[in-house]
Order: sequence, then structure tokens, then C-alpha cells
Amino acid sequence: MNGKIKAIIWDLDDTLLDTTQLLIPIARTPAFEKRIREPLPLLDGALENLKALHGRYLFFLLTYGRTEAQQAKVASLGIAPFFRAQYFADPSKQETKSMYFKRIPSEWGLAPHEVLSIGNRRSSDINEAKSQGLQTCLFLYGEHQDEPILSAFDQPDFETPSHQELVARCRL
Ligand SMILES: [Mg+2]
Repeated sequence: MNGKIKAIIWDLDDTLLDTTQLLIPIARTPAFEKRIREPLPLLDGALENLKALHGRYLFFLLTYGRTEAQQAKVASLGIAPFFRAQYFADPSKQETKSMYFKRIPSEWGLAPHEVLSIGNRRSSDINEAKSQGLQTCLFLYGEHQDEPILSAFDQPDFETPSHQELVARCRL
């Protein structure tokens, strides 16, 4: 149905990686710094989706957080080869995901509506992407599930409770 989607921008924390269970309990401790450098598991079903979809859509990774830590997580997950490019929105430089949702389609010659943002945070993965004209899929998982709907941009085009249902729910 959404034949016009040509690319997917994946969020990392609580979309591909189980941040809420594995890392939130040890956040801001030395154990966190150690854990993100050891092999990390993907969320259940995530690898299957990455494998099944990456030949059909251009894949990008867009994650917000301390860049050095986010890069360590990607390395530990071993998922770098799936992505054409990885983007790290750096809070220390006052960056947001919004600027990347604007930049990625133009950088890759895509119309905004040909790009699907998949992520667990309504306020960034959905709102900031929709505001730039992208399609959106809310991944219903993790510590931020109670973010309220404050505007039309907070309402995703699709939502899924799991990776197992993602392909059907997002009509990919
Ligand atoms: Mg996330």
C-alpha cells in the first residue's frame, strides 16, 4: 500500500535496542560505560526486520544522545552494515532530530513523504519527522510510552506494538 516509501530512518534506543531494560537501570554509572562496549542484543524480532527490509528500502540510523556513547552502542550491536548512513544528533551542540529529518531526504534525493521514520518517542521520532513531511511509525515500547498527544504532528501514520507486527502494521 505504501509503495511510495523508499527509505526508512530507524531510531536506536527502545526501537532496535532494549534501552529501558538493559541500560536505563545503570544509566550514569560506570557499569553503563562498560555495558555499551560489550555485545548487546537487539530487541526481539529487530534483526529479522532489518534483514527482511534492508534490500527493499534505503536504511538510515538517526539517534539522539551523547555521540560517543551512541556510536559504542551501534558497534556493540553489530548493525552498522545495514545502514547507508548513520546520523548522530548531538545534544551538546544543541542539535535535534528535526534538522536531520529535514537534511536526510534532500541529501539522498528523496521527497520527504518517501521516507518513513520509525521510533518510540512521539515528541521526536513522530512529531519532528511529521513536521518535516515524513511518514511516521510509532514503536510502542519503553520508558517514554506515556508522552501525550499535544498536536496533529504527535499522531503517527502507523503504530506497532512489536517488531513481529511492524511490517504488516506499517504496510512495508
Ligand atoms: Mg528511541
